[in-house]
Amino acid sequence: MIDLRSDTVTTPTPQMREVMAEAEVGDDVFGEDPTVNALEEKIADMFGFEAGLFTPSGTMANQLSVNLLTNQGDEVLIEEKGHIFNYESTAASHLSSVLLRPLKGNKGKLSADLLQDIIRGQQEWEPKTKVIALENSTNKGGGCCYTEQELASISAFATQNDLALHLDGARIWNAMTATQTEPRFYSRIADTMSVCFSKGLGAPVGSMILSSQENITEARRMRKMWGGGMRQIGILAAAADFAVEYHLPKLKEDHRRAQELAKVIDECSGLSIDLESVETNILIFDVKNVSAREAVKKLAKQGIKLVPFGPQTLRATFHFQITDEDLDKVKSVFDQLFG
Ligand SMILES: *Cc1c(COP(=O)(O)O)cnc(C)c1O
Repeated sequence: MIDLRSDTVTTPTPQMREVMAEAEVGDDVFGEDPTVNALEEKIADMFGFEAGLFTPSGTMANQLSVNLLTNQGDEVLIEEKGHIFNYESTAASHLSSVLLRPLKGNKGKLSADLLQDIIRGQQEWEPKTKVIALENSTNKGGGCCYTEQELASISAFATQNDLALHLDGARIWNAMTATQTEPRFYSRIADTMSVCFSKGLGAPVGSMILSSQENITEARRMRKMWGGGMRQIGILAAAADFAVEYHLPKLKEDHRRAQELAKVIDECSGLSIDLESVETNILIFDVKNVSAREAVKKLAKQGIKLVPFGPQTLRATFHFQITDEDLDKVKSVFDQLFG
């Protein structure tokens, strides 16, 4: 099977398992796991934040961020395709008692223009707008990335309006690779940021919230309260560290493969794709003559797994365990089924 459903389906390589087995560990609830402590320092430094906290999931890192930046009854602005709005159950309402206000942007992205005149809270019957939550790259938005300029203008708008900015950077690795952004740029525009080690980087578990030392100290307390205090997680931190060292540089290959498949899709008469929307490792495209579900079944019969993303829409996602040989097979099957 060639599994293009998600970049979460990667499995730890023998070398990754080796560093996991050899990791020095301790009890992280006591702050005594040297491997996770080193990783938190390294990633915080990489992105220019004061501190970081390892979390079991990206959802927890996002929700800790929402919790830190709001009080009960506040409002968080988010693009309507956002992960925090669509794929984290109702966590923000349950855990932080805030309103997520979805806005229609472009390919999962907000813009400073869109945000004009929608800040609320002057009247006592209105929710208080407190946070802008951005995603880079966008998941449901097809892996699109913000330019540095777009981020800088949203950040300036946030500052002018006394709003905090959270950046869901589950795939910030893909975004910084595609836009050639220096990682420390993100700490200049965001108050909190989440990153995932288990997407395209290929670690089995783990995310991180990055912010000021004060926020991270509070996040540690909340993580424990939410049941996310963990013990000898050096074995997971070692996998994450390995992923950053050895798999991050491979992302550009995933992007190249996504581009190559996009060109084939564009040439298939039974398919349509907006070539400009393919910026990273994710492709979202439409099938014309069959439903998305039927197309998925046909592809599965040929040994290729994709996910339906709408009645006529499919998503394919590249990751480092999809080889050029796999890509050749996918190209020829697409041509055969939809050409
Ligand atoms: C995967 C993902 C997350 C985190 O998901 P978990 O499954 O909780 O680790 C957050 N944001 C985006 C954009 C994602 O793609």
